[in-house]
Amino acid sequence: MVASLHWSAQFMAALVSSQTMLVPAPDVPPQDDWVRVDGPRALATLEEIPTKRAGYRTPEDVAGLRQAEEMVADRLIALGYEPQFQDVERPPRIALTTPPDAPTPRNIWVDLPGEGDHALEWLVVMAHLDAVVGSPGADDNGTGVVALLELAANLRERPRERSLRLLFTTLEEVGLQGARAHCVEWLEPKVEAGQMRIYGGISLDLLGYYSDEPGSQRSPLLPIDGVEQPDRGDFLALVGIRRHQAFTQDFSRFMREAEPDAPVVVIDMFVVPPPDILRSDHAEFLIRGWPGAMLTDTANFRNPHYHKPTDTVETIDRERFVRAIGQIVGATDAMLNPSRAKRVPAPSESDDTAGH
Ligand SMILES: [Zn+2]
Repeated sequence: MVASLHWSAQFMAALVSSQTMLVPAPDVPPQDDWVRVDGPRALATLEEIPTKRAGYRTPEDVAGLRQAEEMVADRLIALGYEPQFQDVERPPRIALTTPPDAPTPRNIWVDLPGEGDHALEWLVVMAHLDAVVGSPGADDNGTGVVALLELAANLRERPRERSLRLLFTTLEEVGLQGARAHCVEWLEPKVEAGQMRIYGGISLDLLGYYSDEPGSQRSPLLPIDGVEQPDRGDFLALVGIRRHQAFTQDFSRFMREAEPDAPVVVIDMFVVPPPDILRSDHAEFLIRGWPGAMLTDTANFRNPHYHKPTDTVETIDRERFVRAIGQIVGATDAMLNPSRAKRVPAPSESDDTAGH
């Protein structure tokens, strides 16, 4: 998650006024027991992600990001995918502090096409691969990267109506560069040509830090009359805006259904979002009028290691992190299958009804 963003007045105006697409509300599908998140594999992957991967400043940060890209690509290939790549140019302010022979950072993604009437509707789930200089970035955002790889592993063979893109973005920490480049070069042209409709974009950004201590959770929001804000950091927050509540409400409902014991707090009531709500890649969807949300442990509002050298794997709550991955896999699958819940009565049921 990026520390701060400076949105222009035009951006805010665009966010509030641009057209939204109609989002059909899916029915709640039956509980599934097919999700098989491999906890030990997920945690081992988290430990293997290079701990310097900012992509600029030092040779180690540059080499580490390239190594992280290769690791992700290798995992995807091993799962049977053919990953795609997109070069993302460094913005001038970091280009100045980049070794001259540094390779260009890349977005990486795989597509899982849907079948049927909804196949043109795309859900894009994202996690940024880069970290800030000086922080190993286990929570920010090794956890999101691992969750995205587990989505790739679990959803590959699942039937889908909607299409899914799993997108590992780059240079998020220096202003959402990878997500923006992807929207501009790979999504907008397809949308304009009628080859794609954006069902929504979800940014997985910090999923692994939890605490049950009273006072462990601070709020990015000012006190609101009649609203009790949580003060224990024992949940994931799904953060969006009011225009796209259908999207956030569906995803949170499916998360709760996939894992009823893991609390989810939805923050999607704002017409004009406070800046903290826009600090991840989903903001690039929102500015285009597309549904977008981030799923997060709330970063600096809970995690004392945020953007620090102490953001290490030792601070990750392994059990709750693995549980969160299962929850995300189940919810994503449900988002992709809007008509699954429309049950056709079994023949015996219909016969029975007809007989009375
Ligand atoms: Zn960050």
